[in-house]
Amino acid sequence: MTEAGMRLPAAPAREAEYGHDALVVCDNLVRIYQAEGIEVQALQGLDLLVHEGEMVALVGASGSGKSTLLQVLAGLDAPTAGRARVAGQDLADMSRSDRVRYRRHVVGFVRQQTARNLLPYLTASQVVDLPMAIAGVPRAQRRTRTAELLESVGVAHCAGRRPDQMSGGEQQRVAICVALANRPRVLLADEPTGELDSETAQEVFAALRTANHDLGATVVVVTHDAAVSGQVARTVAIRDGRTSSEVLRSGVGPGDVHAEGTAEEYAVMDRAGRVQVPREFREALALTRRVRLALTDDHVEIRSDRDEDG
Ligand code: ADP
Ligand code: MG
Repeated sequence: MTEAGMRLPAAPAREAEYGHDALVVCDNLVRIYQAEGIEVQALQGLDLLVHEGEMVALVGASGSGKSTLLQVLAGLDAPTAGRARVAGQDLADMSRSDRVRYRRHVVGFVRQQTARNLLPYLTASQVVDLPMAIAGVPRAQRRTRTAELLESVGVAHCAGRRPDQMSGGEQQRVAICVALANRPRVLLADEPTGELDSETAQEVFAALRTANHDLGATVVVVTHDAAVSGQVARTVAIRDGRTSSEVLRSGVGPGDVHAEGTAEEYAVMDRAGRVQVPREFREALALTRRVRLALTDDHVEIRSDRDEDG
């Protein structure tokens, strides 16, 4: 039918897809491990959005699912259910060649164990060169990029050294250069300062900031270090395989590394509207299974169901 009069009215604008403008999207992400007949739910419906250019810290107790999440985002592990998308690539549905391309060009990954990031028989220059050589980058470009990267995070003096000739902090900074060699859009770091003393950890953290501010990588860093999470604009807490709360800090950004930004903690509401009420709040008012909710002009009240004046 081509008659104008027969046309259907324009469809109402579809609700924008969850996270359509985010670089990293985790939507109800589930990862279940089967170990000797026992099921471990490492991720239990985790939602997370990270926008291009952000630097986000992930914190949470041991066993809360942080490493599992990073393995999925790195393309090293696949989710059991739910959706994970990075830079438009659906991570649950990648062919082998997609996966190779993704791991080579879209993400860089830094592990906690300094020894596992490098190769014992290669110098810093050689190991940073390697991912570019594999990707077919011409030699002259590789040489320039390697020198620039090592310089940018303060380890130019390590160019000719093997890992056993470098400190732990130097090794981790070289590892960051390896991860950045092919200009990934996302840099993932799983407790990169976990084996380092606090001063050395600061140097490694500064290298992550350089990757973010100067080299344009979006950074997701898992950390136990409050000094680290205190320096990023957004810290996401993971509990039991889900995001539970976020702290946003103002006054933290390029140039004010040591700024004591004002921090505000937010609870995370999932897409079904569920919010976790912190234990302290529940205990203070003896909130248990049922609560009363009331909508006021500008906030929502939660009350015990045992209110005297019901
Ligand atoms: P975190 O990094 O926050 O400490 P992980 O993601 O390593 O947490 O682990 C989350 C949960 O999943 C833990 O209970 C852990 O024991 C379990 N887990 C992680 N990896 C495996 C695996 N390969 N096989 C079985 N269980 C695993
Ligand atoms: Mg871990």
